[in-house]
Parts: sequence; structure tokens; C-alpha cells
Amino acid sequence: MLRCTILGPPVSSNEESCTPGYTRPALGVALKRGLMNRCPVCGEGRVFRGFLKLVPACSHCGTELGRLRPDDAAPYAVILITGHVLLPPVFWIERVYQPPMWLHMALWLPLFAIVCTLMLRPVKGALVGLFCRLGITGNEQAPNLYPTPPG
Ligand SMILES: [Zn+2]
Repeated sequence: MLRCTILGPPVSSNEESCTPGYTRPALGVALKRGLMNRCPVCGEGRVFRGFLKLVPACSHCGTELGRLRPDDAAPYAVILITGHVLLPPVFWIERVYQPPMWLHMALWLPLFAIVCTLMLRPVKGALVGLFCRLGITGNEQAPNLYPTPPG
């Protein structure tokens, strides 16, 4: 028996139900839906109401997405991914062509800024899906999204 009190009214069932009428999505599904700015639970409502501001709750299924707090995880993941994708070309161009430093700065800094900005929203959405799947709310005072059944 699983009880969930965060994503909607308390429910009990033998399945991994979190919002009445919906089951907890698989990890890949939750990540993909979040990446596409869709609610990780139902896949219909939106995750963001601004560029990076989360909606308080899904407009379709009522899942309280606003309780999920990816916070600094999104910029961390974006910097990690962008660094691994763009730094090899930086080093390769330096080694092969040895352009002046001002050219490196004029080329790479704006490119890094643009790529990071474009990646931030989908990565944060995917993290919302991940946190939703894992039941991480960031609030230690509230029960987990998916508390473990007693016993
Ligand atoms: Zn939803």
C-alpha cells in the first residue's frame, strides 16, 4: 500500500498512484515530459509559467509541481553538459590554429552564454521530472512525495 499526500489528496492503492487517476511515471517518461515542458505525471499540463518559474500545480492533473525544487541543480547540470560539449572544440582550435586570446573571448564567451541559456529551461524541466519520479521535494518538514509503505 502506498500513500501520497503531496501530489494531491491522500490516496491509498496497491499501485504507485500519486494523483488520483494517474500513476507514477517511469523515469524515462518523467524526464522526457519534463524536458518538453510537460507535467511529468500526466504529460498534458505545463511545468513552467515563465522562463524558469514553476507552476504551483499542473493545470490538467493538479500535481503540485511547485513543491519540487530543483534550485541549483539545473545550472549545475547545464554547465556540466555545456562544458563537456564545447570545451573540446575550444582546446582543439587553440592547438591547431592558435588564434589570439581576444578572438577566443569574442567567440566562445557569447557561445557559452547562449547555449547555457537555451539549455537551462529544458534541463530544469527534466530535473523536475526526475525529482517528481524520485519524490524529492526539498522540504524536510513535509512528507515525501512517495513515502515508503509501512512494514
Ligand atoms: Zn499533470
